[in-house]
Amino acid sequence: MRFDVLTLFPEIFSGYMTQSLLALAIEKGLVQINLWNIRDWAQGRHKVVDDRPFGGGPGMVIMCEPVYACVEAVQAQAEPGQLIMLTPAGQRLTQPVVEELASQKRLVLLCGRYEGFDERIRQGLKPREISIGDFVCNGGEVPAMVVIDTVIRYVPGVLGDPDSLVEESHSEAGRLEYPQYTRPRVFRGMEVPTVLLSGNHQAVARWRQEQSRARSEPGANSGEQAEREGVCHEEPSDEGG
Ligand code: SAM
Repeated sequence: MRFDVLTLFPEIFSGYMTQSLLALAIEKGLVQINLWNIRDWAQGRHKVVDDRPFGGGPGMVIMCEPVYACVEAVQAQAEPGQLIMLTPAGQRLTQPVVEELASQKRLVLLCGRYEGFDERIRQGLKPREISIGDFVCNGGEVPAMVVIDTVIRYVPGVLGDPDSLVEESHSEAGRLEYPQYTRPRVFRGMEVPTVLLSGNHQAVARWRQEQSRARSEPGANSGEQAEREGVCHEEPSDEGG
């Protein structure tokens, strides 16, 4: 599978691309990642890529010209891929969306910076817009890495054991994986459940299924529970009880 990442900061990817599963996938030729600096398509001596927003307001907006030129040049390199714009306004990245993206042969990931993109980039290039969550990152590079990291798991040969995909959290909507343990059998007084040491595969499978079901119940995970109970981490105010 081929990814083309269009960014103003390609260096951000260097550590990520040389580690672990992704590095191995690249070495085996299963995944190809090409980094492109949008600034290389900017005009003039100063290679300007951003400008102040019309109407005023804070920050700078990424201009149409270098982005259109970069997207068009990169798409022309091979059979055009699906253009993805990373934006907090996009469709939320969920496991089904990851699976859909993984069905593409080529993804072209457009990373924003500053205050984001001139609206006409969205209007004219008609990218698929993806958000990694309801929060704002400083740039689209980390969101692009999240897309790559999640999508490559579906590329045949990338995961050592393809069963990992089937068993894992979110492989079915709302389903979370059972708890996992490794050596030692006892750590600081906490013991591994005896069923996992029994060698009884059916009993292990049954236990895992039960655990997975219990964990997947709404509110079962600690974060959601804290939210339901109104737990917050703010300092108590002077009037606080
Ligand atoms: N002013 C923009 C807004 O309010 O929607 C936010 C701009 S953000 C500081 C800069 C860039 O980071 C965006 O253009 C986008 O590419 C990326 N970005 C930030 N948060 C993101 C998210 N949750 N999902 C995907 N991309 C995001």
